[in-house]
Amino acid sequence: MDALTPTGFFAALSEVSARLADVKADSVGVGVLSLYARPDAALYRLPLEHMRRFEREMDRQIRARLRPQDGLFALDGKEWLIVLPSLSSPAVLTLAMLKLEQAFNEAPLEIDGITLPLRVVCGAALSPEHGKDAFHLLQSARIAGLVAGRADTGSQIYQPSMEQASPSLAVLERDLRAAFAGGNELELHLQPKVHQPSGECRSAEALLRWRNSAGQWVPPPVVVSLIDRLGLRHRFNRWLFQRTAQIIHTLRLEGLDLDVSINLSATDLYDAEVPDLISQALSTWNVQPQRLCLEITETSMIDESAGNSVSEVLRRLRQLGLSLSIDDFGTGFSGMSRLKQLAVQEVKIDRSFVTDLLSSARDREIAASIIDLSHRLGVDVTAEGVEDEETASLLAGMGCDHIQGFLYSAALALPEFVAWVRRRDGIGT
Ligand code: C2E
Ligand code: CA
Ligand code: CA
Repeated sequence: MDALTPTGFFAALSEVSARLADVKADSVGVGVLSLYARPDAALYRLPLEHMRRFEREMDRQIRARLRPQDGLFALDGKEWLIVLPSLSSPAVLTLAMLKLEQAFNEAPLEIDGITLPLRVVCGAALSPEHGKDAFHLLQSARIAGLVAGRADTGSQIYQPSMEQASPSLAVLERDLRAAFAGGNELELHLQPKVHQPSGECRSAEALLRWRNSAGQWVPPPVVVSLIDRLGLRHRFNRWLFQRTAQIIHTLRLEGLDLDVSINLSATDLYDAEVPDLISQALSTWNVQPQRLCLEITETSMIDESAGNSVSEVLRRLRQLGLSLSIDDFGTGFSGMSRLKQLAVQEVKIDRSFVTDLLSSARDREIAASIIDLSHRLGVDVTAEGVEDEETASLLAGMGCDHIQGFLYSAALALPEFVAWVRRRDGIGT
């Protein structure tokens, strides 16, 4: 059976919001659980196919241990968010963590006859005490998970002291502050987008990369949430816009006139300074605004509760002549009819619809209708997370304009990216 797993942080965010608004008198509130799975290193040496099966098997096994009313959201293959509405007592949360932890830690997972020892770590948060809104609640659960993982304790419920006292978080914070002070330890890597049917690389997405002092890569969503917690958002944005404009400038000097996309967070759309910072960066590096594309998630663009501040920032960004793209399209709740109002140049079909495109008629239908409607509105379509030729040719056949994914390349540091594009275009190095 093809169970639908809603994907992504924003989908979880909107579900938690809805549940918070809907807390019944006889319940103690809403619980959120973050589950990290640390598979054996052997998993990463297996073909992608097995990794996908691993993700599906995880979905299935987690789902089997939840109540029917609980929501399950997959984030990037290693982390899952679980929303538990209408808790009769906080113990339900603890029980759910214990059940999940035991299930995975006691019996290794078997994928196609291959045994994978697995360590699962859970963090939980409870409304209203651990978060005044959905965003904080989710972050609290993830922080508890982070602390549990580093302390090797299995599962933890959030406590405010975790944010100060946790040596791991404190070290991460210290490293990040040092990175800002040193200026050049944060990096942007570029993931090529390949135009169909020409096969040319005309654009790329810049993705944040940062290693902590122990030399480990820290996942970008963790870095971004730490930046917010440390109140470093403005400094980060200044760096992000300057660095991106500099990259576009360097690419041009290399003879590569490419468009570059960056990811904006939902909170950036409330920040009236963002359009000015972008405009300054573009003029410092003499970059045309059309070269820069801002990827914004669907949910953050249409947040009605935000009143006019979001649309005012968006209006000014459009006025600058930048391109706008809706990231993770299909995972939010705006529906296709909103596309026209959003006045964007690009839509990115979320990876959750791309992964099973070959096997799922439903996903093919969704992809085809996104492409069809977008084209009727003069909007380009990129499919993200494409990992194999068959999926790429299916999408190309549907008229998808750009394809991005490990099939072509993961995100690369600038020099490697330049070499990659040259090789691909046959310009020679
Ligand atoms: P996203 O914008 O959806 O970025 C795509 C993510 O999918 C990237 O993960 C990328 O490495 C990964 N990916 C690309 N192709 C494939 C594929 O074929 N298969 C699989 N399995 N994955 C693929 P990454 O770099 O870990 O970024 C995760 C998220 O972090 C991004 O999701 C974005 O939301 C956020 N992020 C990254 N950089 C920034 C940034 O500079 N600012 C902000 N605010 N968010 C960022
Ligand atoms: Ca993106
Ligand atoms: Ca995306």
